[in-house]
Amino acid sequence: MNEATQEKGALRVGSLFGIPFFIDASWFFILALVTFSYGSGLAGQFPEWQGVVPWLVGLIAALLLFTSVLLHELGHSFAAMAQGIPVRSISLFLFGGVARIERESTSPWGSLGVALAGPLVSVALFGLFTGMQWLFEPTGGTAAILTLLASINLALAVFNMLPGLPLDGGNALKAIVWAITGNQYKGIRVAAFTGQGVGLLMMAAGLFSAVTSGFSGLWFALIGWFVFSNARSYSQYAQIQDKLSGLTAAEATVRTEPTVPVHASLRTFADFYALSTEQPVFLVTDYEGRLVGRISRSRLTQFEPEKWSSINVSEVMEPVDAAETATLTQPLSEVLNRLNEKSLPRIPVLYPDGRLVGQVRMKDIQRFAQGDRWNPAH
Ligand SMILES: [Zn+2]
Repeated sequence: MNEATQEKGALRVGSLFGIPFFIDASWFFILALVTFSYGSGLAGQFPEWQGVVPWLVGLIAALLLFTSVLLHELGHSFAAMAQGIPVRSISLFLFGGVARIERESTSPWGSLGVALAGPLVSVALFGLFTGMQWLFEPTGGTAAILTLLASINLALAVFNMLPGLPLDGGNALKAIVWAITGNQYKGIRVAAFTGQGVGLLMMAAGLFSAVTSGFSGLWFALIGWFVFSNARSYSQYAQIQDKLSGLTAAEATVRTEPTVPVHASLRTFADFYALSTEQPVFLVTDYEGRLVGRISRSRLTQFEPEKWSSINVSEVMEPVDAAETATLTQPLSEVLNRLNEKSLPRIPVLYPDGRLVGQVRMKDIQRFAQGDRWNPAH
């Protein structure tokens, strides 16, 4: 997998090659489960192992499994970074690992590269562990762990190449359809459709085998449900993007909120803006109406009210990153991606010369996406 929203409730445990690394609380559950499963298998295979030994070896094997998963995610991440695309995070959670890549590649071939890089790492690890077995001919526990690691990595590669979103095979299928049709969203729709099929088949197969093999079948069905529901949201996303096609930021820009003049004092800001509305953040414009910064009402609390008259808004405002603005002629689908990437509720819209027109709000785009051709007053 290489995309999802997995940061809420997750614990930041460090960085991997500069990428923030998170562990979700749910991961400890699956770690315990895998340790138990491997440990009981090893206890049966090696009756001479005493006490906690099989469980300890099971834990080590489980940690090596998740190391394999992380290396798979690093494969996706390096392919994205080679294209200049930042990776926001890598996380471990209930259903494995996920690399949160900031945006889609600009070409279908780039997208195909990111999709295939993870499974390629898994195939390479399978080759490595198989080669080590062949080369060193180990016995006992070492042989058991090497066999396990080889089969885990092969399974990771094969499972992830099932041709439906959100799996890597689905991302590859998306890229291929994109290359053939020239339409990225058609690619997502096709791969989201097959992804729902893959998810449903997994649920059916899992529930069927739950009758014979118990818990592991239920677990497989649960992963199937995860695939199905993710594929469905991809499909909804592609439909929204399709409805937005042909529309530009201009059609969704609203001017509802007052902006603060850059020459105003904090006193003026407090009396005429901050204290008269609930608005948490205000955009700041210069004499020509160009966007020069933003100021939040909470900034006021950092200064004594007696000093407000002597401090200028320009001295305490924050700059607005160009990546967090849109232009009037920009396609609305791009504006939506930008809002999603930065998790913004709204984005300032500028004329080409930098003057502020207004804002596009997430809720307005959602109204467009519902097919509601409502005309914002501006
Ligand atoms: Zn993957």
